[in-house]
Amino acid sequence: MREPERIPGEVSTRKLSGLEQQLARSLPIVVSTPPDFSFRGSHEQGAARRGELVTPHGAVETPAFMPVATQGTIKGLSMDEVAGAGGRMVLSNAYHLYLRPGDMMVRALGGLHAFARWDGPMLTDSGGFQVFSLAKLRTVSEGGVVFRSHLDGSMHEYSPEAVMRIERNLGADVIMQLDELIAGQSALAASRGAMERSLRWLERCRAEFDRIERDGRAPLGLTMTDAVLPAGLPSLVPADPDAERVAPPQALFPIVQGGTHAELRRASVAGILGGGNWRGIAIGGLSVGESKADMYAMLEVCEAVIPRSLPRYLMGVGFPDDLVEGVRRGIDLFDCVAPTRMGRDGTAFTPDGKVQIRKGSHRTDRRPLVEGCGCPCCTRYDRAYVRHLFVAEEMLGLRLLALHNLTFLLDTMRDARAALRGGSFDGWSDSWLARYRAGGR
Ligand SMILES: [Zn+2]
Repeated sequence: MREPERIPGEVSTRKLSGLEQQLARSLPIVVSTPPDFSFRGSHEQGAARRGELVTPHGAVETPAFMPVATQGTIKGLSMDEVAGAGGRMVLSNAYHLYLRPGDMMVRALGGLHAFARWDGPMLTDSGGFQVFSLAKLRTVSEGGVVFRSHLDGSMHEYSPEAVMRIERNLGADVIMQLDELIAGQSALAASRGAMERSLRWLERCRAEFDRIERDGRAPLGLTMTDAVLPAGLPSLVPADPDAERVAPPQALFPIVQGGTHAELRRASVAGILGGGNWRGIAIGGLSVGESKADMYAMLEVCEAVIPRSLPRYLMGVGFPDDLVEGVRRGIDLFDCVAPTRMGRDGTAFTPDGKVQIRKGSHRTDRRPLVEGCGCPCCTRYDRAYVRHLFVAEEMLGLRLLALHNLTFLLDTMRDARAALRGGSFDGWSDSWLARYRAGGR
């Protein structure tokens, strides 16, 4: 029989003093604290809505784009620059941090917020996508995924339980379940198998998430001494190991799977909703090779069956037009490496489509990348200089374009929120998309 449903973060003993913790261990008491997570939607226009997601590290106005700090850093930028560009919630990756420097090491160094010097809301992806795309020699079974590290060839097992322990150690505000990924346009039977396995893994994630909430995290001192710290390094054993075992308040998000099959997407949502009281829900397995029309159709299928009280997070989708199309279909959160990856390639986002800055036509172009953009690239430099930086392979060029692209996506979401607040979102998004698609120089 399943345990009674419990909302993570609503009842917690994490704020107790040492004496109270001793009492709590000896007496069957629980102490209620205010919810650490909430979501409130407002200003709806069709499926689109403005909203506010509250986490233990602050609130995020939605719809929002989350910059991706894969290894605990947004490539080439400091967290101060990301905040300056308007980033309010960042995403990091459990797979990469588990392999290097290790989730226990991050925890011993104060948790990912302190380690990366990011005080705002943070989400970690489970790393399922990376296991399926980066790792070598992986074997998938009901138990989980056994894989060889892409870094040093060492063998690892990624089970739903292990992933929860890793993400609990890292300590992000929102953590993702482990799910099974398959190719974007897989046939019905394969898609169904992966979707159903993802639901079974979600149940195991939830059970382990709750167990850690109840029993605490693995002792750090022993593990750090015995297994993680190479000989000769100063100790990282915490002063108060008992207090350190308490997991920070976190929310576990399930992931809707089902490929491009509407009936599987609906079944996935139904299975998720029947399996717990969630604080949010993610839509995964899109933008992996299917057509844009198929992706948008799946968003509409999910939108119709996900309760509007839950924030919806569309995973790994972040080209400018996909953001606007996603907001139109009820998405609240996005993430993608596109702004920095495209920036490194010399591609800049503009309201008139993408611009390749290396083109010879920019050689004498005195205009900024985007007139009116407030980013450090556009306020200070012209296209001719930025092109020169790329042709000369100067590091500053990559950084400036990454900052511009990030600012562009964050500004686009800010404008979408303003249009929603003002009741003009439909017209705003129509003309935004028409201009973006007419460009593409
Ligand atoms: Zn700019």
